[in-house]
Amino acid sequence: MARVAIITGGSRGLGRNTAIHLAQRGVDVLFTYRANQKEAESLIRELETMGRKAAALRLDTGDVRAFDAFVAEARNTLANWGVERFDYLVNNAGNSLHAAFSETSEAQFDAIFQVHVKGVYFLTQKLLPLMNDGGRIVNISSGLARVSLPGSSAYGAAKGAVEVLTRYLAKELGPRKITANVVAPGAIQTDFSGGMVRDNPEINKRVAEMTALGRAGVADDIGPMIAALLSDENRWVNGQRIEVSGGMVL
Ligand code: NDP
Repeated sequence: MARVAIITGGSRGLGRNTAIHLAQRGVDVLFTYRANQKEAESLIRELETMGRKAAALRLDTGDVRAFDAFVAEARNTLANWGVERFDYLVNNAGNSLHAAFSETSEAQFDAIFQVHVKGVYFLTQKLLPLMNDGGRIVNISSGLARVSLPGSSAYGAAKGAVEVLTRYLAKELGPRKITANVVAPGAIQTDFSGGMVRDNPEINKRVAEMTALGRAGVADDIGPMIAALLSDENRWVNGQRIEVSGGMVL
């Protein structure tokens, strides 16, 4: 029986790349998107062309009230695939915020924590009954939880919270043989933050200069790593933060 993954924010960027690399390893993928239905539909076609089962559900991961309905939809999708449970959860969906500490509003702070912390916390909690024992959770953090760059205090603090949460998940879900790890990408050339790392030559150069391997990351640097981390080869890796950044600010 094929393994099944649920990936939040699979329509673009790192989530999409992870979905493709999981599919290459024979994993069926249920992913979420927030707005980009066209991108979601194109990914479904791409995964199905690879011979995998694929489905997309719309979800705002900052809206906890929507989670019960989402879990019910996910349960139906799995039932249509002839399975009751899934194996891998990748909490990836997220947006950016650049604002100086002194200028960050309460509304901005709440919005970023809703998506990056509260959403991850309660979506994971509500999906747990659907997850097989022996399953795996990967939460996506950021290099900005370790390296403090001005303008990222709320975002970096939210990612820091996810890193602590992940260790608690590893501890409390151990009895079910479920692992939980953090993948913390460096700056990657996706649409994230308005495509800043990809499209702004000055920022791209600065990232390259602070990276041991001498360039900014691309989605293909991250997706295969997450797919490998979820595989049985990495079954003993648990409660860890792994930075995947080409050696950023070492
Ligand atoms: P992208 O902007 O390329 O893609 C973001 C994805 O998340 C999309 O699928 C988007 O859906 C979805 N999404 C965004 N906000 C929400 C929301 N509120 N509810 C549900 N889905 C949402 O970003 P990346 O792929 O680069 O980023 C993925 C993760 O990696 C994020 O958690 C980010 O913080 C983290 N990260 C990114 C880095 C980078 O430099 N790119 C560096 C370090 C960490 P839709 O397509 O429908 O809009």
